[in-house]
Amino acid sequence: MSNIRFKALEIAISRSKRNFDLSNSRLINYFGELTFNHEVMKNYLAPEVVDQLLATVASGGKIDRQLADSVAGGLKEWAVSKGASHYTHWFHPLTGATAEKHDSFLSLSAEGKTLENFSGNELIQQEPDASSFPSGGIRNTFEARGYTAWDPTSMAFIMDDTLCIPTIFVSYTGEALDYKTPMLKALHALDKEATAVCRLFDPNVSKVIATLGWEQEYFLVDTALYHARPDLALTGRTLFGHASAKDQQLSDHYFGTIPERVMDFMKEFEYEAHRLGIPVKTRHNEVAPNQFECAPIFEEANIAVDHNQLLMHILEKVAKRHQMTVLLHEKPYQGINGSGKHNNWSLSTNLGKNLLSPGKTPASNLQFLVFLVNIIKAVNDNADLLRSSIASASNDLRLGAHEAPPAIMSVFVGSQLSSILKEIELSEGTEFNKSNLHQTVSLDIPKIPEILLDNTDRNRTSPFAFTGNKFEFRAVGSSESCAKPMIVLNLIVAEQLLKFRQLVAARINEGMKQEEAIYTLVRQYIRDSKSILFEGNSYSEEWLDEAVKRGLSNIPSTPESLKATISPKALRLFEDHDVLTERELLARYDINLENYLKKVQIESRVIGDLSINHIIPTAIRYQNTLIENVKGLKEVLDNKTYVKLSNNQMQNIKEISEHISIIRTLVSEMIDARKQANKIEILETKAMEYNQQVLPFFERIRYHVDKLELLVDDELWPLPKYRELLFIR
Ligand code: ADP
Ligand code: MG
Repeated sequence: MSNIRFKALEIAISRSKRNFDLSNSRLINYFGELTFNHEVMKNYLAPEVVDQLLATVASGGKIDRQLADSVAGGLKEWAVSKGASHYTHWFHPLTGATAEKHDSFLSLSAEGKTLENFSGNELIQQEPDASSFPSGGIRNTFEARGYTAWDPTSMAFIMDDTLCIPTIFVSYTGEALDYKTPMLKALHALDKEATAVCRLFDPNVSKVIATLGWEQEYFLVDTALYHARPDLALTGRTLFGHASAKDQQLSDHYFGTIPERVMDFMKEFEYEAHRLGIPVKTRHNEVAPNQFECAPIFEEANIAVDHNQLLMHILEKVAKRHQMTVLLHEKPYQGINGSGKHNNWSLSTNLGKNLLSPGKTPASNLQFLVFLVNIIKAVNDNADLLRSSIASASNDLRLGAHEAPPAIMSVFVGSQLSSILKEIELSEGTEFNKSNLHQTVSLDIPKIPEILLDNTDRNRTSPFAFTGNKFEFRAVGSSESCAKPMIVLNLIVAEQLLKFRQLVAARINEGMKQEEAIYTLVRQYIRDSKSILFEGNSYSEEWLDEAVKRGLSNIPSTPESLKATISPKALRLFEDHDVLTERELLARYDINLENYLKKVQIESRVIGDLSINHIIPTAIRYQNTLIENVKGLKEVLDNKTYVKLSNNQMQNIKEISEHISIIRTLVSEMIDARKQANKIEILETKAMEYNQQVLPFFERIRYHVDKLELLVDDELWPLPKYRELLFIR
């Protein structure tokens, strides 16, 4: 009898490593060589074209046709010189992946001569037949096609033989069908509001950008083992599997020596990433066995989002060359750590100042506190929306489970800042009136000393932690586009800064000094946002109780959480800042719900199939062996000895029978629950039904399957076990 598990194990164990040798090349020689960066532009575009392009990009203005034609010409020349034969618009549809459709540069002249062509038109806009991308009903499949439009702020790059042009993706009627469009708009809103607030302190500030440095966690598994697990291959996670006797309890994987085969893979994907200008910098083993992380140097948020999308693609591509598969799923294995994608986020001015870096003077400290406290207030007032931005079927499994923050949003600032905020909170209202005012600089708030933060003052359990000069949003899932949380975070902060500025203006109008207006508002915000600040262990049971007492929401499921995306408050917020319209938000809501329920549906089907067609037949086969054995014992032993010795075996047979029978019943009940859910027309109710009526079967079925794994002869078990998936590379 053939057992695919053993074949896969044999293959996996016998792998030799693929040698990736970079000894002849230096990073500085190949970094960014596949991007149309500023250096390259100078070689392929006329100086005035470069100037015009950069100026237009900086101002956020429109690219005119003539400029586009000039850029396209140079871009094509460069791409062809790098061996590219095709081009594509590269965009982020609402599937969460990236999409591309390649066209070659080929064109034929009237005389039939072969030409290589790429016009400004083709650079600026494409009309991919996009009827199969999710649109939430916005785009009627029959009438309209979507179109893509060039995002000149993100550099064009070459992948394989194709010139890729980052673009937005919108419907014919102008609705966004992607993540980049609202991302750019949210960043624009943030820029506008943050710049205005900065100018209260420094009139030279003309632009504020959001910076993002993500940390990408992932698991690796040998591809042969991966394919021997239909659950991994179809859903990205193991739906069954008993815990390995040893997994992460000795913490011997974290920051350990990177295994050679993995190291080789890392070198190669880093090389690919570097050629594409992705500034990957850090690599290490993560907590769980076979779990790893990589992180780049932070960049402007839009670029960083593109780079993360690109990196996920490269990880998967390069892993294949090493006969490994990357698992980007948030929770590929039960009982051990899941994978996140911490989003380190900050704000930076055109003058190069990090707004979340505490300054040396009291005045710059006030500016720092203004941003810090406004961000805290924004999270406090929009916690549910922020939670919804990281909601997915797979992240639901990670949040609150084993070394991941719970679904409760809270903010950690560290003990030093905590005590400063506390002092401000308790300070009295008249202080500023009393002091003899030569305000701006000598805003000698005695309570705001020079803030020198202790970098070790970290809390690794908080979903949203201040880490010295940036916030780290740790609840983001490993497989998701950073755009989702980044859209919401930048938007809520923009909104909060706008409110702040308006209130400051109003108070000044009433005769208050600017600094006093600012200080008293900061103090009010601290008082308003007290309940979101939490310095303790977010993974603890006590926090769950405490959070309830504080009135914070804990929304464990995606369908429930998504409601926040269409609340009247959210609709207004997105519309006020021109980020997404009501129609677009409703469409996204539907897409997210549908995505959720389809994922649960697929998992449920895989569980049914594996249970009925893999697990139960295996268990029965083993049970038959046991039965044969008992019969044999009866034949060869005298009755007294037989009764004594067969007891154990009989017990075993009974146990197996019970598990089999329960699994059968549960699977059939689960299928019924699915049928019921499928009858529901309203998407919201249907997704909720999947969450509440179908999903709970998974754990119950798994319990019995995992018990069988312990009872059944290892020789017969069809699925690679946790100890094999986690420890064999
Ligand atoms: P860790 O959280 O693992 O201790 P680090 O302090 O090394 O990590 O930084 C993690 C990430 O934070 C890196 O990707 C880094 O680029 C990013 N980062 C650092 N400064 C900023 C900033 N001002 N804005 C955004 N990201 C930043
Ligand atoms: Mg970190």
